[in-house]
Amino acid sequence: MWWVRALRTKAEFVASLRDGRTVYFKGHKIEDITRDPFCERVIAHLGLEFEIPENPQYRDLVTFSPDGKTRYSRYFKLPENSEDLLKRSQIIDLGTRLASTVVILIKEIGTDCLFTLNIISKQMDKQLHTDYFNRVKRYHDYCMKNDLAMAVAQTDVKGDRSLGPSEQEHEDYYVRIVEERSDGIVVRGAKAHTSYGPFANEIMVIPTRALAEKDEQYAVAFAVPANTKGVKMIASPFGGTSSSEFHNPISSKHHMVESITLFDDVFVPWDRVFMKGETQFAGPLALTFVEYHRFTAISYKAPILDLLIGAGISMAQMNGIIGASHARDKIAELIRYGETVKGLTKQAAINCRMVEGLAVPDPVYSNIAKWHFASNYHQHVALVQDLTGGLTVTGPSEDDLRSPDTGPSLRKYLGGKKGVGAENRLRMINLVRDLTASDFGGYNEILQIHAEGSIEASKLTLFRQYNAKNCVELARKIANVGNGLSE
Ligand SMILES: Cc1cc2nc3c(=O)[nH]c(=O)nc-3n(C[C@H](O)[C@H](O)[C@H](O)COP(=O)(O)OP(=O)(O)OC[C@H]3O[C@@H](n4cnc5c(N)ncnc54)[C@H](O)[C@@H]3O)c2cc1C
Repeated sequence: MWWVRALRTKAEFVASLRDGRTVYFKGHKIEDITRDPFCERVIAHLGLEFEIPENPQYRDLVTFSPDGKTRYSRYFKLPENSEDLLKRSQIIDLGTRLASTVVILIKEIGTDCLFTLNIISKQMDKQLHTDYFNRVKRYHDYCMKNDLAMAVAQTDVKGDRSLGPSEQEHEDYYVRIVEERSDGIVVRGAKAHTSYGPFANEIMVIPTRALAEKDEQYAVAFAVPANTKGVKMIASPFGGTSSSEFHNPISSKHHMVESITLFDDVFVPWDRVFMKGETQFAGPLALTFVEYHRFTAISYKAPILDLLIGAGISMAQMNGIIGASHARDKIAELIRYGETVKGLTKQAAINCRMVEGLAVPDPVYSNIAKWHFASNYHQHVALVQDLTGGLTVTGPSEDDLRSPDTGPSLRKYLGGKKGVGAENRLRMINLVRDLTASDFGGYNEILQIHAEGSIEASKLTLFRQYNAKNCVELARKIANVGNGLSE
């Protein structure tokens, strides 16, 4: 079909993962991740990324056609204005919603990184007369035309957080260049938390922080295929251990997997190297990535915010307390919380600024949204748990509900408001447990705080990026203190 020519099918994506990559899980090496029971569930979740464009209902939104003939995933479209960013936000929301609130992220994060490299390579070329932009452009085209799944390994393992890369106990706490050859570089080190690394075709690597001149070997950005010699991924087992749809309606089908990603003297050819020693651009690269990536983050929060509201209302109805003033108060608070984040997300797109021809989401609104979401998530989870009741963790298993010995009693005693029925009520309670009080629920609480950068990082960016000139001028004018103060 003409419209899917550049888009891969789920089967093609799955086949591409049989490439001899090195993935470890719970102490053993997985020979073929497509045949491992744990990985199969993750692959089924990620397969949605390739199924969504096949649905005529979503096709126009999630794809674009630069030449009017070939259709590519819209994720690869360089954002030229607010509208592009709003559409990007919509497709992130759509995918996450279809995946029961679990972000898919094999295109989102990679394209956040591609946009960043696009901007920073242009700036490096202008200032340093390098030729990075052409490499980035070729690499972007390659990923887009092959519809690749990408992971981004930014966060180094970091050792002592109070020290810079070259001050650490050993040299490899941050990924670094250990050798330069005529045909490329050799890199060594480890990155942590690489989302879906074991399931990506490409691993993109960028610095995690601003660097000093003495950190030259750490100023490195590159991309390698996931099966490159020396790349080893140790997959995390947490957050999705149950296969029961009844008990875990979300995490039995959808959950994320991160990896500790090792670079054991990995060779990278020049055409895949996007930064080599330009320490002065490490900070801008890390920061620009975060500006795109926090916008991705707040975009994929909308479905979980809606789910908290929906579950809270449903449980209040099922328990017969929807008319109680405290229940209405809690639901109103859930709505305020959710709609604030959603409103700020739109505003971040609308207030975008143009950098090197690309639209970058407004960091002030993105960071307020991320900070507001992350620092209030646990309290809002508590409101839903409060409305739901203790059965969230004390309820019976599905086997007991189905058993002829215990099922009739459970159906008799565990109903709520007339007409709801015990099984429906238990299903909704199970949703709340999966979302808030399971292995997956705990994983989610950590994700909301740390993924896309810690809360403190958001505050710092907000402080640095906020243009307070008007505010300061107003205060000085009203206080009549003149211009004598230092900036
Ligand atoms: C689910 C999940 C998915 C993720 N996916 C990815 C991914 O795909 N790719 C990727 O690159 N990263 C990813 N991350 C990493 C994420 O960006 C980091 O977890 C986050 O930046 C925090 O870093 P950290 O985990 O090392 O914690 P730390 O940075 O160690 O944070 C712990 C505490 O130390 C504080 N702290 C840290 N440094 C300093 C300092 N210098 N001075 C004072 N206080 C400090 C922090 O504010 C925080 O309070 C993911 C994380 C999670 C949880």
